[in-house]
Amino acid sequence: MENTIYLDYAATTPVEPSVLEAMLPYFKERFGNASSAYSLGAQSRKAVERARCRVADLLNAMGPGEIFFTSGGTESDNWALSGAACANREHGNHIITTPIEHHAVLASAHWLERAGFEVTLLPVDSFGMVDPDDLRKAIRSNTTIISIMHANNEIGTIQPIADLAKVAHEHGILFHTDSVQTVGKIPVDVRAFGVDLLSISGHKLYGPKGIGALYIKNGVTLDPLISGGGQEKSMRGGTYNVPGIVGIGKACELAKDYLNTEIARQQAMRDNLIDSVLNTIPDSRLNGHPTLRLPHNAHFAFKSIEGSALVANMEAMGVYCSAGSACSSGATSASHVLTAIGLPSDWVRGTVRMTLGKPTTSSDIQNAAKALAHSVSNLRRLKI
Ligand code: PLP
Repeated sequence: MENTIYLDYAATTPVEPSVLEAMLPYFKERFGNASSAYSLGAQSRKAVERARCRVADLLNAMGPGEIFFTSGGTESDNWALSGAACANREHGNHIITTPIEHHAVLASAHWLERAGFEVTLLPVDSFGMVDPDDLRKAIRSNTTIISIMHANNEIGTIQPIADLAKVAHEHGILFHTDSVQTVGKIPVDVRAFGVDLLSISGHKLYGPKGIGALYIKNGVTLDPLISGGGQEKSMRGGTYNVPGIVGIGKACELAKDYLNTEIARQQAMRDNLIDSVLNTIPDSRLNGHPTLRLPHNAHFAFKSIEGSALVANMEAMGVYCSAGSACSSGATSASHVLTAIGLPSDWVRGTVRMTLGKPTTSSDIQNAAKALAHSVSNLRRLKI
């Protein structure tokens, strides 16, 4: 990482040193199984419950009993959709979501479709926004679960979650939001949002990988996704990942400070980056909503350029960022998010996402903007 600039904090974040420090004893002398009856186990159990309180606190849940630990955002999303759909099967078989969700939600919806459920994908506008009126129109008498992400992982657009959840509840329908990109990045308050289910992931908020949580509002019933022992009120079997749980708990505790200090700092640098790119690079545009977007996210499109070549060029210049397109069987295809927002075909391949984090400095941003201008003009000259 020396002499490189990492601008891919939406992909993952480094573990905060104090998070690692909190986790280490649970790999070593405090290795007890949290389900064991003796004191070594009780010590781990106590650590798990402390972490649960910290997660609940950050989300403003009613209490720690509403937090269930999982292996990450993917599992939380899978569980929310299939757990709610299957538990409410006798009330209906219709699910509503959006075409810009993470694959963890879309793949669950497709799995449910194969199992006999019906899925409606709501339209989004050119910024990736969902209109609550479109949600209202899509609701049927057999709709049981609605899942709409809080902020999009590619273009950063933030949805009006409280308004959308209100529409769901007017019709007695459960509402889930994938908050993987927002918890610890912008304020997330499950009570103010009025959501029933909310997914979070440790590695997006300076915690470890392979740990996440699902907020399940008191009184909401889900079928288990993973059966096994009696862990997590018999709702999610499997020996507790105590170091991971301690890590996500500590990361949630630290996130409170982060929210106070980092949002404004990163947003100012991000805005400079956007201004610099749009003013200096011809045929460039910003994707996602201009203001209702994650404060650390910039997502650009450059006309007639290949995003994967751009990312490789940027890496050669010492900047890590991500292409806004997905690679499959050697060919680069437009991402489902960019297709859904209707980005024109001569722009859709030339996209790049830059996401800032705690270690990012103003000079990183200036250097990254220069590298981007240089890379784009290089590729245009070579016609790549
Ligand atoms: N949901 C969103 C919006 C994400 O960005 C991601 C990861 O990139 C996930 C879910 C999956 O989370 P995890 O990597 O913890 O499985």
